[in-house]
Amino acid sequence: MNRCGYSLLGLSFGELGNLLSADGLYRHHTKELWGAIHRKAIQDLSTATLAPPLTRWAAANVGEGKRYFIDLPEQAEEINSSDGLTRKYLLKLTDGQVIETVLMEYKGRFTACVSSQAGCAMGCVFCATGQMGFVRHLTAGEIVAQVLHVRRILATSHPHRRLRNLVLMGMGEPLHNYDAVMKAMDIVSHTGGSSVGPSHISISTVGYVPNILRMAEEKRPYRLAVSLHGSTEAERSALVPASKKWDLETLIAACRTYSQSTGRRIFFEWTLIAGKNDSVETAGRLAKLLEGIQSHVNLIPLNPTAGYDGQGSDSGRAFQETLRAAGIPCTFRQRRGIDVAAGCGMLKADRLRKTLAKDG
Ligand code: SAH
Ligand code: SF4
Repeated sequence: MNRCGYSLLGLSFGELGNLLSADGLYRHHTKELWGAIHRKAIQDLSTATLAPPLTRWAAANVGEGKRYFIDLPEQAEEINSSDGLTRKYLLKLTDGQVIETVLMEYKGRFTACVSSQAGCAMGCVFCATGQMGFVRHLTAGEIVAQVLHVRRILATSHPHRRLRNLVLMGMGEPLHNYDAVMKAMDIVSHTGGSSVGPSHISISTVGYVPNILRMAEEKRPYRLAVSLHGSTEAERSALVPASKKWDLETLIAACRTYSQSTGRRIFFEWTLIAGKNDSVETAGRLAKLLEGIQSHVNLIPLNPTAGYDGQGSDSGRAFQETLRAAGIPCTFRQRRGIDVAAGCGMLKADRLRKTLAKDG
């Protein structure tokens, strides 16, 4: 396990080039090493076929106790859904923190759901990760490592398929860890590496307003998903405490600015909870709120968590119809994998509970 040195996975193509040229290597060496690490997803460079100068460089500089390392999260647990289409991995980082990464198959296309933080500071009441609290940000290398982990698995199980989509919907609030997340997305979308198309990458936020605006200013090419869950301030802040910092009105104004300056559709996520945010009146208010914003609403049935006694809703269809009647596209998110403790942070929470039960 590497506890010193710098992560090679967290370096941009330009940074990798600079460090290799400082060591006397050439530009084509950068391309070759980048391809080995990111396209072929090789973990142990001593097994790679590289030009002799690179082989020597890697032997001298990469590995345990050396200047650089390749992040290698240990797979602590794997759970497959009964339909075999969702595979969840608990990955143990070098400091012992455990995060979740999920690989999903839908109509022969593969999507990875990756984590951006260990825990989360935003405290949404229904979310298992929120119930854990914040532990730390992940580094860019740790985010890239999750993508490479699922790509290695995919290369074995479906050698002719590639990872097509990526969603930042695992543990954590990606826009609270902006720099590392953006750097990681730039790395995994690089065409010489993992090559996930930028328009196939969705960044989901609880509504971290300053960084929604920053994404627009910096013209980040990724899709934006905003977790709304409430159509009035009272409704929303009861579920999403972060609404007290960036209230609904400010958030919607930021979404309007984002949508006008990028010309892009925003995906709004809505976890349906019985009696809290599932009435047709709420749907009507939501439709009004989104007027003038190119939107798509994703309805997510509530996954029960130990720390929240809210119930899933039966009124999803009426909610959906109300939005559709107002001209807003609205779909249900696949509830795939519920049988393997689906949902953000739930696998880790489940494991913690089992460990506590064993210890107690
Ligand atoms: N922090 C980001 C991304 C991670 S959560 C965000 O909040 O958007 C990804 C999505 O899963 C969010 O829309 C979140 O509200 C939803 N979610 C979290 N826990 C859930 C649960 N128990 N049931 C249903 N949806 C949940
Ligand atoms: Fe954090 Fe997202 Fe969970 Fe809210 S829903 S606590 S922002 S991970």
